[in-house]
This record gives sequence, C-alpha cells and structure tokens, in this order.
Amino acid sequence: MSAEKDSKQSVTELAASNAELRATLARMAEEHARDQAALREQSRMLELLNHTGQSIASQLDLDRLLQTVTDAATALTGARFGAFFYNRVNEQGEDYLLYTLSGAPREAFEKFGHPRATAVFAPTFRGDGPVRSADITQDPRYGKMAPHHGMPPGHLPVRSYLAAAVKSRAGEVFGGLFFGHPQPGQFDERTELLVVGIAAQAANAIDNARLYQAAQIQIANRERAELRLRDTDRRKDEFLATLAHELRNPLAPIRQAALISQSPGATPEQKNWSHEVITRQVQHMSLLLDDLLDISRITRGTLELRKQRTELASVIESAVETARPAIDAKRHRLSLELPRVPVQLDADSLRLSQVLSNLLTNAAKYTDPEGQLRLVGEVIGGDVVIRVIDNGIGISPAALPNIFQMFSQVKSVQDRSDGGLGIGLALSRGLIALHSGRLEAHSAGLGHGSEFSVHLPTSVHGMTEPASPPAPAAAVNRQRRILVADDNVDAGESLAMLLRLDGHEVELATNGTDALQVFEHSRPEVAILDIGMPGLSGYEVAQRIRGNGHNDVLLIAVTGWGQDADKARATEAGFDHHFTKPVEPAALSALLGS
Ligand code: ADP
Repeated sequence: MSAEKDSKQSVTELAASNAELRATLARMAEEHARDQAALREQSRMLELLNHTGQSIASQLDLDRLLQTVTDAATALTGARFGAFFYNRVNEQGEDYLLYTLSGAPREAFEKFGHPRATAVFAPTFRGDGPVRSADITQDPRYGKMAPHHGMPPGHLPVRSYLAAAVKSRAGEVFGGLFFGHPQPGQFDERTELLVVGIAAQAANAIDNARLYQAAQIQIANRERAELRLRDTDRRKDEFLATLAHELRNPLAPIRQAALISQSPGATPEQKNWSHEVITRQVQHMSLLLDDLLDISRITRGTLELRKQRTELASVIESAVETARPAIDAKRHRLSLELPRVPVQLDADSLRLSQVLSNLLTNAAKYTDPEGQLRLVGEVIGGDVVIRVIDNGIGISPAALPNIFQMFSQVKSVQDRSDGGLGIGLALSRGLIALHSGRLEAHSAGLGHGSEFSVHLPTSVHGMTEPASPPAPAAAVNRQRRILVADDNVDAGESLAMLLRLDGHEVELATNGTDALQVFEHSRPEVAILDIGMPGLSGYEVAQRIRGNGHNDVLLIAVTGWGQDADKARATEAGFDHHFTKPVEPAALSALLGS
C-alpha cells in the first residue's frame, strides 16, 4: 500500500517538475527571443545611426541637410513626428524660424505660426541641455503662457516630449530638434542620448554646409570679378590697338604732304594743298587727344564746367558747324527743329556743343550716304530735350546697353566707322551728367536708325547772372622778343619759325639751364617754356626767373598734359599762361598781340 502511495507521489512530483521545466524552458525561449529582438533592434538602430551620420556628413545643401536630420532622428526615436526649428536672422536683422518636419504635414504646424519662447521651448532655443518628459502635459513648465496655456486647439496631441538644441562648437545655437508622441512614456534615456548625438552631428554638418556655402559665394564673386577684369582688359587692349591705328592714320598724309611741299618741282598750289592737309590732320589728332584727356578728367572727377548763361540756338549752331564737314561729306540732309522762343540755359556752352557735335558726327558716320538727319530741340515740362535722330544703320538691342561704355565700339560696324576711339559717347554721357542731365539712346534695331536724346533738367534751363564778357582780343601786331625753350628740337624750332614769320624776334634753348642763361643774357619780353626738360624743368626755370625779380616778363608754359592740376602748378611756379601741346598758333598769336 505504502509502496503504491509512494509511487503515486513520485509520479505527481515528476509531473510537477516536468511542468516547471517546461515553464522554465518556455521562459528561457521567450527571454532568448526578446534578447534576439532587442539585438536586432539595436543593430538596426546602429545601422540607421551610421547611415544618418554618413548622409549628414556628406550633405552640403542646408535645406536638404535639415530634412535628412529630421527624418533620421524621427525614425530613430520612434517619435510620431519630429521637427527642426532653425534660428535664422534675415536681412532685416529679425529672427525667424524655418523648419523641416517629419511624420506630419506642414499644415499641422504652419497654422500656429512660429513657436514662442515658452518655458517648455526656451531652454532648447537658448542652447541648454535636452528636455525630456514622459508626459509634457504634467510638466510643471507646461501651460504657463497665455492665451492657450498649453497646446493651441487643433495641435497634434503630444504627451511624450523630447527636445535637444543644435549648437555649434563655438556656441552658436542653430536651432533645435523636437520630437513628440501622443502616448506618454515613449522616450527613454537611451533615446535622449541618441538625439543629443544626432544634434551634435547635425551642428557639425550645418557648420560645414555654411562654410561650403560661404566658400561657394566667394568663388562666384571672384569669378565674376575676374570676368569683369578680363572684359576691361580686353576692351583696353582693343582700345590701345584702335588708338595706335587712329594716331598712325594722320601720320601718312602728314609725311607725304611734308615731302610734297619740300619737293623742288612742287607748284605753289601743291604746296598750299600740302599745308592744308597737314593742318587738317594735326587738328584731327589734337581732337583725339583732347577727348582722351577729357575722358581721363571725367573718370577722375577733375573736369570742371564753365557754366554761364547760354542760348540753346547758339550752342546748336556751333555744334552743327563742327559736324558740317562730316554731314556734307556723305551728302546727308540735316533738318533743325527748334522752339520759336529763345531758350536760355545755364550750361558750359563749349561742352554742350561738343556733345551735340559728337552726336551729329556719329549720326553722319553711322548713316549711309544721302541720309536724313534731324536735330530737334524742345522744352518739355520745364526740361530741355535735344534729340539727334538719323535713319542710319541703327543699333541692335544687344549692343544698345554697351555703347556708352568706354572704349566700346559695335564690332559689326567697326569697319563702317571711319575712325573714332569708341569714347565719344562715354565722354558725352559724362559731360551731360556733369550738367545734372542724362543722355539716352534709342533704336528699333539694326537698319532702323537711331535716336540720341539729351535731357537737361530745369535747374539748367533758366537764367543766371550773365557771365563776364570775354576780354576783347585787341590783336595789335606787335613785335616781341621771345625765348622758346623745348628739348624737342623740332617742336622748338617750328614754333620759333612760326613766331618769326609773325615778325617776332626769337631765341631758342633746348634745356632748362640754357633757357635760364639765354634769359639772363637777352631779357626777352616773353618766355615760352616746355615743362619736361632735362636739367631744370620749365617750372624751375619759371621759379628762378620770378625769384630773380623779373616780374614783367610774360611766362607761358607748354605741356603735354593739360590737366587742371598741371595748370595750377604752372600758376604756382609763376607762369601767366598755360598751353597744352600742340600749341594752337592762332591762340598764341592772339595772346602775343594782346
Ligand atoms: P566711336 O564713334 O568713336 O566708335 P562712340 O563712343 O561715339 O565711339 O560710339 C560708340 C559706338 O556706338 C560706335 O562705335 C557705334 O557702333 C555706336 N553708335 C554711336 N552712334 C551711333 C548712331 N547714330 N547709329 C548707330 N550706331 C551708333
């Protein structure tokens, strides 16, 4: 009996331990499966983290970078949605926040405007440590700010909350990463560490992206500057070639004319003709050089206007007179349309006439023979508008914006322009700007003619004090004793010859020291001194002459540089007058005769 009882008991015990074993085994299998799952999850996370790190580090486009960060961090944390709020300062200097979103449509956030620095958000925007809450609605910092005291109505439900600042190593807070979940207790310490790590990686990447962007901008700026420089350089080269060509052009006729007039067989008519050629070509060269000097003065802001009360009609008359040879050479017809009443201007009449003659000459140059040119002067709303219109070759829309640039000539028409440096329009625009006006060009395109209009504002159109009338040139032909000093022997001798032909008595010196000796010896009434001479310069000679008490001698400076500063320096040295080379013989005669 007892044996039977014993065996029953052992069966029961065996069954119990069997069940226990099975339960233990099941528990172990369950634990193993859990561990396996946790391991798989961990390796998935590591993989994701590694991938995120790589894609963040390789991303240089800021917007795409922020989106990558937000998407990856939302996936890693298991949040329902994640957002990156970006602290940015726009051009007005005000702060605003641009954000990227993951797990929710933009509209879910955009309707609430930008987040404010509430007690919950502020630590992140300040760059403090991470904020993690199992249930943000129970957090003591939550719901403190009016008007909503918590999430505004319609906000996605958030209980679990996690936020980390994205801050550069230098301490600049770029923004913050924010994560939410409608269920409480979703984010543990591990998630927090993960987010802090991603935020640090993101900050580095933003730093890099910004540096990259700044470098890109710098490169683009440098490329633009180089392009501009190359363009200026190219135009300067072209200009130098044109200048050499334009200056060489008159030399051939001058040389030939000189040979003809020297030839023993030349008739008086041929000699006369040669002289006319030389005069005309020298005049042409002087005009080119004057333009060059003027443009340099305008560029450096040293060109001064001599404004006075001027009649529009007389300015136009003188411009037409200057342009007449070019107009007549191509048998153009020029019609003038001017207001019936006289129009007074407060302007530099010489400069204004220079502009108009330049426009008329261009119209003649760029119009086929027997063209129709018009010059129209009007008063429109108090402004004086002068238009020069031609039915010539016109200007293409592509070329139009460039024609006022210095040294610019339209390529396709270069061969039609019988000469020119490509500075006329730049100079004209500069001169009109000095009058506070503007010069504009219009053309309906190639083959459709051109129109250039000068607009002078009301202030220029009106009365001012009449300018003092120029001193009458009482040209009495008096003989004078003159000293000419120039180290360019040809220049000195030819000037001496001209003066002698006028009946003056002339002595020559070819350097400053000689000039002073000749002066002391002969005591001339007039000394015409070149400035750049070896030994003593013209300035020094003048200073010594004045220093020795010779105040009644008329001192005339002659220089290649007619800048205002040169003139001022000449006056300072004691000169009475200043001429720019080549000296205009008529002007010199008038001065000597007065
Ligand atoms: P230049 O006449 O010495 O070449 P400008 O500065 O006077 O220089 O003119 C610049 C360019 O503008 C000219 O080369 C020419 O191509 C264009 N241009 C000027 N005036 C006219 C015009 N009336 N019709 C057509 N093209 C013109």
